[in-house]
Amino acid sequence: MSTRNERLRENQEAFRHANERLEGVVDGKGDAEALIPFLCECADAACLDTVQASHAEFDVVHADDLRFFILPGHPRMDGEEVVDRTARYLIVEKPRSD
Ligand SMILES: [Zn+2]
Repeated sequence: MSTRNERLRENQEAFRHANERLEGVVDGKGDAEALIPFLCECADAACLDTVQASHAEFDVVHADDLRFFILPGHPRMDGEEVVDRTARYLIVEKPRSD
């Protein structure tokens, strides 16, 4: 049985992977500070808004499997904490399981 949170988590992981593919496609084609329209990774499965972030910013956030980009004001999943924020996005972190 899949709980609501498990489905949300799967959706969020799918967006994360889409963003990683997007970053791979554009990698090396521009400078590291150029903004790229990544998909918002918030808890709203229907959200198709984009987060403007640079390669450098993306790499820092996605270096940690528990961190995601979301737009300010977008829903967080249960237990996620905002760990950093910029004018363009928030960085949320899932609770560590251990
Ligand atoms: Zn969103």
